[in-house]
Amino acid sequence: MLRQTIKERVSLNSKFFKSLNFRIMVILFLVGTIPAVILSAAFLSAYRDQSLARLGSDVTNQCQILATQIGSANYLDDPSNETLTGELMQLATLYDGRILIIDQNFQILVDTYALEEGRTMLAEEVIKCFKGESTSHYVSGRFIEMTVPVTGSGEDKTIIGVILASASTDSMNARLEDLRNFADIWLAVGSICVMALAFLLSNWLVKPLRHMNKFIGDLVEGALDGDLDIHDCTETENISNTFNSLLAKLRLMEESRQEFVSNVSHELKTPLASMKVLADSLLVQEGAPVELYQEFMQDIAEEIDRENTIISDLLTLVKTDRKVTKPNVEVTNVNEFLEQILKRLRPIAEKANIEMVFESNRSVSAEIDVTRLSLAFSNLVENAIKYNHENGWVRVSLDADHKFFYVKVSDSGMGIPEEALDYIFERFYRVDKSHSREIGGTGLGLAITRSAVVAHRGAIRVQSTVEEGTVFTVRIPLRYIT
Ligand code: ADP
Repeated sequence: MLRQTIKERVSLNSKFFKSLNFRIMVILFLVGTIPAVILSAAFLSAYRDQSLARLGSDVTNQCQILATQIGSANYLDDPSNETLTGELMQLATLYDGRILIIDQNFQILVDTYALEEGRTMLAEEVIKCFKGESTSHYVSGRFIEMTVPVTGSGEDKTIIGVILASASTDSMNARLEDLRNFADIWLAVGSICVMALAFLLSNWLVKPLRHMNKFIGDLVEGALDGDLDIHDCTETENISNTFNSLLAKLRLMEESRQEFVSNVSHELKTPLASMKVLADSLLVQEGAPVELYQEFMQDIAEEIDRENTIISDLLTLVKTDRKVTKPNVEVTNVNEFLEQILKRLRPIAEKANIEMVFESNRSVSAEIDVTRLSLAFSNLVENAIKYNHENGWVRVSLDADHKFFYVKVSDSGMGIPEEALDYIFERFYRVDKSHSREIGGTGLGLAITRSAVVAHRGAIRVQSTVEEGTVFTVRIPLRYIT
């Protein structure tokens, strides 16, 4: 039980992580937060650089003023000038730093920390400064160190000393840290807002898909009622339209299935009803003569034959329908194939005194399913014989071009009324029910024929004039198109 719940939860979680909803949410979140994080980092770094530059230039300016004063007051020769010493101390305190004054002998004359006066200072920056190159650099993230030359009061402006000053960056760093904390808090608050917005937006975006899923789920469970009507955006509108076309097709199929089932039941019941009537009438007649028995039994046997024909036609139709996607094709000589069919049917034609002719100007070879097309053409020729007049004729002709072969089955029979032409390929359709029943039709022959022709990616056409005759034309590709 527990394992089941854990399993369910894991599958629910993995479903959520795989969902479009989650993906849209992640994308929106990243698009919303990454630029903010980059901007905040860039802003903080620019602010730090600018603060450092400002501090450096402030201290340098102050030192330069002092350097001028030191030069003109000969402070290097006589460092007892209290005003200048006081200014040095003030400057050092102001920037929380330290100032050293170094003379030409690299000796420290003044140290605001009063620690190293009298010592020698041979730092690289100091030497560079004596050569006329002022420096300023950031040391170990805690302070800036810079050198400013002190020039003599004479005309030649020779460098007689160097001011080595350092200014603490602690307060700047503290300000930067505050700013960073402030930015982090806003980033966190912003991220939560973006997350909530992404959640709402992603839900809104996948809502039409959820509606679609629900509608299709309801369809699966119930009847094929209603249409999918989701017009939130062009894509869902297109899917709705395509889905509705599919639905219409399904409904049509369902309708034709129901019609087929009711037709089948009706057709199968008719011979049974006749047999019942015949048997009942024999039963109620006491002492009926043997001749009557024989006559009625003859009728019953005919009805059984009819029932048999209907069932075998139905089985053929179901088989051909199921195989509609893949006929078993082989290269066949169509002339010989048609002659064979006609040979088989000639005795029936001769019985009705019907002349049967085969016309062909060329030899045609094509990729066909012999079994299925033999059934299709047999049905056409059989019909041409069945629905003909005594002493009539049936003509079968074969022709071809570079792509198709054409078989025409013409007869001099009773013809088909114009209004019936659209229906003759429907299952169980018969023009004159009583007449064709007499002739022995089931109404399935042309449906079987069309199914076989369609399976070969071919086409069938009919032209007919009542009391003059009918022409069926079948067109089949020479090469089977998969
Ligand atoms: P059936 O088993 O009744 O012959 P088919 O599907 O073969 O069924 O034909 C359907 C109906 O079309 C027939 O009942 C008949 O009325 C009509 N029909 C078919 N072929 C011909 C034809 N060559 N001449 C006149 N009517 C035809």
